[in-house]
Amino acid sequence: MIKLFDTTLRDGTQSPDVNLSVRDKVEVVKALDDFGVDYIEVGWPGSNPKDMEAFLEASKLKLKNAKIVAFGATRRKNVKASDDANLKAILESKAPIACIFGKTWLHHVDKQLGMSGKENLEAIKDSVEFLKGKGLYVFYDLEHFFDGYKDNKKYALDCLKVASMAGADCVVLCDTNGGSLPNEVKDVVNTVKGFMNKEKLKSKLGVHFHNDSGVGVANTLVAVEDGVDEVQGTINGLGERAGNADLCQIIPDLALKKNLKLNVKLDKLTELSKLVYVLSNIKPLNSQPFVGKNAFSHKGGIHVDAVMKGASYEHVNPSLIGNKRDIVLSDLSGKANIVEVAKKFGVNVKKDDKRVLAMLKEVELMEKKGYDIGNLNAEQFLLVDKHFGKGKEFFKIETWKIMSEQRNGEFSEAVITGTVDGKSREVVAPVKGGPVGAAYTALIKMVGTNHKEINELKLINYKVMIAEDQGAESSVRVYIEFKNGKEEWGTVGVSPNILEASLEAIEKGFRYFLVRNC
Ligand SMILES: [Zn+2]
Repeated sequence: MIKLFDTTLRDGTQSPDVNLSVRDKVEVVKALDDFGVDYIEVGWPGSNPKDMEAFLEASKLKLKNAKIVAFGATRRKNVKASDDANLKAILESKAPIACIFGKTWLHHVDKQLGMSGKENLEAIKDSVEFLKGKGLYVFYDLEHFFDGYKDNKKYALDCLKVASMAGADCVVLCDTNGGSLPNEVKDVVNTVKGFMNKEKLKSKLGVHFHNDSGVGVANTLVAVEDGVDEVQGTINGLGERAGNADLCQIIPDLALKKNLKLNVKLDKLTELSKLVYVLSNIKPLNSQPFVGKNAFSHKGGIHVDAVMKGASYEHVNPSLIGNKRDIVLSDLSGKANIVEVAKKFGVNVKKDDKRVLAMLKEVELMEKKGYDIGNLNAEQFLLVDKHFGKGKEFFKIETWKIMSEQRNGEFSEAVITGTVDGKSREVVAPVKGGPVGAAYTALIKMVGTNHKEINELKLINYKVMIAEDQGAESSVRVYIEFKNGKEEWGTVGVSPNILEASLEAIEKGFRYFLVRNC
């Protein structure tokens, strides 16, 4: 069975956008173990105290499937392996498995390490032997293997042979700068397999690809076809530069397309992907294959109709990876889109129901104005609530006045009159800052008089774009995202007046929250 090696917590955190606390790391370790990967590289214990702490915390966990791996490098020049600080840190981390990397490309051996080729081979041998002598299972990462191989094939293979003879349990071919293409990978992995057979090398063979050429996943799949035993990657393809090969694509490809038996809970993959996005504070990539929000979204009325009748427009069943089919509302929608969206919120209706046509007409009108509803869950929910549910109003804005001025700083004030649960209200909100902030604060104040829960809301994103291009008369589309402890949602307002559009989006965002929580 092919082994899955996750390096999200080590190579993935090299991404400039990712910074995980010790607690986050432990959280990810638990989720990866539960999902069923074989190896979890938690970090580089010799490089910083935070990683060492994460290892000590991880060593206390009772893992069901995975083993913890500590990363490090071959010993430095003129230092005994037993005296090398980073190798000693691997032992201190209490990880049962080490993964150390060493140079394979002579150009780097000379420039970066200031060693001769022979000295580098000795460092590889000493380091692997040292860790094996301490009873660890050892992965040996051949850094820049593919570049080294192109530059000096014999030396690259010598590095592999030395590591293997020294007892490395698995030798790993790394495409460190992500420059290789699948056809090259196929040739190189084939040659390496032949070489290992001829030399009777016992180590297993692994691969580690980066995505700089956009083919990290493809390279991994090709290497698996060539018979490697282990693949490395990160959740969501996190990593330096263009990232590492994405395990959220590799794993379903292997399981569903190559029909390989893997010891993972595949239907937890989407959840795992989301958890890593949340903890690393990165906005999810909607178009990410398999696990992305749009990966199984259908927009065209004809597609939706066909999917509902059982004709497939999906390459795999989304539930297999824990994702779900989504229906997009747009000017291309038909009645089938409305029926499916209603079903999503627990409303079963027939296509010829009058309300279906009424909602479709409203969607068409909104799209004409530039709302671009797509698969915005809150917008869909409010439409379904209006046409098929209670459509409770909660509050209503009757008049508003917003002023903004610059006087040794920015000041704004919003005055809003309206009703909350049928009772008249007038609120004034002066704020330091811009007019949208003032409008938001005023509405929180107004609605909060009857619904205190509204204070848990946070505004997390605000975006404006031109909705209808008519020069200075253009409509703008304001998109606002909100969150409370449990959920995040986004709503849209459209108007030639940016404040009117903002108020509409805020109003809908609040209403979504109130219908769901009050
Ligand atoms: Zn890497």
